Amino acid sequence: MKLAGSSWGTNAGTLWSSTLALCYSAAEYYAPVWSHSAHTGLVDVQLNVTLPLISGTLRPAPLPWLLVLANIEPRPLRRNAASAKLVEKAVAHDSWPIHSDIIYPPPQRLSSRNQLWQDSYSTDITSQWKKDWNSASVVDSHLVAGPRIRQPGFDLPRRQWSLLNRFRTVQGHCGACWKRWRQVDSDLCACGEPQTMSYIVDSCPLTKLAGVLCKLHSADDNAVAWLTNYGSP
Ligand SMILES: [Zn+2]
Repeated sequence: MKLAGSSWGTNAGTLWSSTLALCYSAAEYYAPVWSHSAHTGLVDVQLNVTLPLISGTLRPAPLPWLLVLANIEPRPLRRNAASAKLVEKAVAHDSWPIHSDIIYPPPQRLSSRNQLWQDSYSTDITSQWKKDWNSASVVDSHLVAGPRIRQPGFDLPRRQWSLLNRFRTVQGHCGACWKRWRQVDSDLCACGEPQTMSYIVDSCPLTKLAGVLCKLHSADDNAVAWLTNYGSP
């Protein structure tokens, strides 16, 4: 959070590696042991705070988008993959005490408890994430070819990267959002039409980008120039 508030080192790559190294490594420590706990969600809530920092988006941006833009796999899939790895190792090492627990699981004592050996796990995060992404009805989800790849513009300077993601998630500084946040009474653009994030890119005669949001998403030279000039007097 301190890094994101500084004027140095604030690019998506640095924030991404800092998040994984400082937050995720601690918050996922030996996850296969506790990932079935009812309190796992509390850890996720804390980790969610890091996502808007990496993507430079605003708080109302939908979580599936935040994960894709931050380029960090959904936590249940990460924990599942870690469990799969542990089970695989335990099965391969018959001298480990846990080996017999996995192969010949002990009788269940409490029906409310979900034990490590009761579930089936998959290490294939990519296809599972893609399936989840396609089934979650997220705004402009068609833009994303694959959720696990770094989205175009990840290497852009902070301002352009953040602005680009606000247009992708349609949560940013526009008349409609300001009105929803009760900052202004009217959501009208200078051109006289109601102003939303999509309207600014797709239709507004004062600002629209040729090729609309798909073009902006590609973060090509034109799109970057448009982002750089956007909002400057
Ligand atoms: Zn306008």
